[in-house]
Amino acid sequence: SEYAHVTFVVMGASGDLAKKKTFPCLYRNFCHGDFPNGQVSILGFARSKLSTEDLHKKMKETIKEPQDPSEKQKYDEFFKLVEYVRAENGYDHPESYATLEKEMSKREENIGDAKGKECLRVLYVALPPSSFEDAAKNIKQACWNTEKVNRVIIEKPFGRDTKSARELAKTLTGLYNKADLFLVDHYLGKEIAKQILAFRFGESSTALGGMFSRNSVEYVAVQFKETFGAEGRGGYFDQFGIVRDVMENHLMEFICFATMEQPTALTPEGLSEARINLLKSVATIKPEDVVVGQYGAGKGDKKAYREDETVQDDSKASTFAAAVLYINNDRWSDVPFYLMAGKALDEDRVELTLHFKDNQKSLFSLPEAHVKFFAKDLKLPHNSLTFRDKPAEEVVLATSTKQHGGYAFELAPTELKLDLKSTRSGDKDKDYDPQSYEFLFKAAMENDQTWFVDMKEAEVQWHVWEDVVTQVEQVVEPVMYEYGSKGPKEADDLLAKHVQRRRQGSTAPPTTLE
Ligand code: NAP
Repeated sequence: SEYAHVTFVVMGASGDLAKKKTFPCLYRNFCHGDFPNGQVSILGFARSKLSTEDLHKKMKETIKEPQDPSEKQKYDEFFKLVEYVRAENGYDHPESYATLEKEMSKREENIGDAKGKECLRVLYVALPPSSFEDAAKNIKQACWNTEKVNRVIIEKPFGRDTKSARELAKTLTGLYNKADLFLVDHYLGKEIAKQILAFRFGESSTALGGMFSRNSVEYVAVQFKETFGAEGRGGYFDQFGIVRDVMENHLMEFICFATMEQPTALTPEGLSEARINLLKSVATIKPEDVVVGQYGAGKGDKKAYREDETVQDDSKASTFAAAVLYINNDRWSDVPFYLMAGKALDEDRVELTLHFKDNQKSLFSLPEAHVKFFAKDLKLPHNSLTFRDKPAEEVVLATSTKQHGGYAFELAPTELKLDLKSTRSGDKDKDYDPQSYEFLFKAAMENDQTWFVDMKEAEVQWHVWEDVVTQVEQVVEPVMYEYGSKGPKEADDLLAKHVQRRRQGSTAPPTTLE
């Protein structure tokens, strides 16, 4: 590393993300040796009245003490590097940041010879979006030491609609050089997102790339299902809802990778340009092509969303949504893209699936028992290609082969599973499997923007969801579904309607961004 010391500030250190992902990933970064000679100061920054010990206690709920003595030594070393700095006057007050600046400088002075540009400061803003702009302004004013190297990382969602995304873009670009600003959508750092690129634009492209088009695909489904609800995050979630939290950003990144044309290069510019070009041909989703839902109580002690202390009793926030979008270009026109995301559902699942058209001229018929049905009598074609993130990272091609053995010539469904882990080299370094945030933190420290979001892209993403977030979310009464269920049945009906329309050959009326 070119740095002698890194100060990594976690703003929102008392929060859910910090506990679940940020600190555990920083710990992994530390153990893996991503900080220069272990020279790092990690400062948790938030308004809550916490001591460093309190913070450590919170962190230890998710960073478990290892049994192995040498790992235990690392664990203890790590916690010595993490301290809490209180934002006593809130995130909108310069005083809070003056304190932070003082604390950062103190750490930098304590590390011996490291001077100026040998010191890297990373300020990671993991706050509710309502505080992004305040934090961005104050960081620039109080914590941006031009004698050192400074970088700021901002979490999604970038705005809450097109207008606010533009305002945020204006603020951020007014304050920072593009090179110093890292916009995180951690789905871009996921292994499976990169597998989509490898599959589409690598060696397999000549043989398999043809699958990615309207000629083969009947519809595409992207699912994000969580078994837990908004427990403890209600305050943030109630303002945003599932569309803004997950669909508008995370799911769109997966869709972009699966549908965009080949980037000119695997560079930040190449990838952003390819995604932006794709997003520009996505029609704005129509309010009638959306179903929003909210979970009610479930079995046992599972409480309804509205019963959460941090949520309004009459909240209309959606904890579930299903929507259908269309991409108006030669490759994808008419293909429905069904996006579904929900909390408090029956399983944990994150995946993107291309469902292929039925072969009308098939010599064989699939036994009824092997055909999937949903929404009344609509048959699902069995053939599909899935890029799965959860419950396990997998690429699965589902098709049918001859039922093995026997005298009859019958087809039976089977799967071709790419053994992603078999590609491991045996080299410990090469095979190291970083978590998404861990990967992105390292990239930010190495000044690599490849897997981050361009502000322009964030703006264009909102164009797709503009009518949904202004005319449906928080406006329409959500359909109630039971905690732990599959979600509202209306979502299946929505998909069925669009698949049937596709089969009948009618074209979805486009409205494309100019
Ligand atoms: P959070 O727990 O609700 O908030 C983080 C911290 O911000 C809180 O601990 C709180 O700290 C402070 N805060 C809460 N409400 C505030 C308000 N109204 N005004 C000012 N400060 C407030 O949120 P989070 O889940 O950690 O998420 C933070 C960011 O990461 C969000 O932008 C979110 O979209 C993104 N993100 C979260 C997840 C996740 O799994 N949680 C995943 C991906 C991205 P103090 O009161 O101590 O200041």
